[in-house]
Amino acid sequence: MVKKDNEKGFVDIVNGRYKPRGVFHIPEANQPIFNKDTGKLAGVTNPRDMTFIHSYGGEAIFFESLGKGKLMASRCDNDKCDTKGSIYEPFRIFCPDCLRRATPIDISDKARKTATIHSFIVTHRSGAFNTLPIPIKFINVEFDEEVVTILMSVLAVGEPEIGKKIVPIFRTKTPTYTIMDLMFVLEGTSESELPEGFTF
Ligand SMILES: [Zn+2]
Repeated sequence: MVKKDNEKGFVDIVNGRYKPRGVFHIPEANQPIFNKDTGKLAGVTNPRDMTFIHSYGGEAIFFESLGKGKLMASRCDNDKCDTKGSIYEPFRIFCPDCLRRATPIDISDKARKTATIHSFIVTHRSGAFNTLPIPIKFINVEFDEEVVTILMSVLAVGEPEIGKKIVPIFRTKTPTYTIMDLMFVLEGTSESELPEGFTF
């Protein structure tokens, strides 16, 4: 069901304040649930159509960069921290060891050169609201030793195999500003094989 603009909620920030406009809660009639064997009422459905406002805060730079074809991570640069120099992908706003604010850094090149499949799982039955093609090839992405975490993502082209080299692709044409703007493909995949709207 595609909504028209007058049925959607929009948010801008003006003078440092959130300014919602439009519709954020759409009422819909509920339905009774009858027991077909006894003819008796058993309950009701509760349709809910609401728009949630999700603030990204310090992670906004990560999601904004995906649409520009850049993979951002964060690094602890605190001299007094035992784990100084550790890079976090997924992006962490704060270093988990010293709790200082980490520095956003661009790891696009590192990802293109060093990303491999650490492990994977193929999902044939998805949850609600799934938009990924089934079967979904979920992959755990490993980078070089400077990146101390593993990134969960999706392999869009190719068959997953542990240790295989992969490269990131980005939804640069019409970004959604969500994690759906980032996927991976096997190294050697050609531009013409990429999903609609994606580039290297
Ligand atoms: Zn630290």
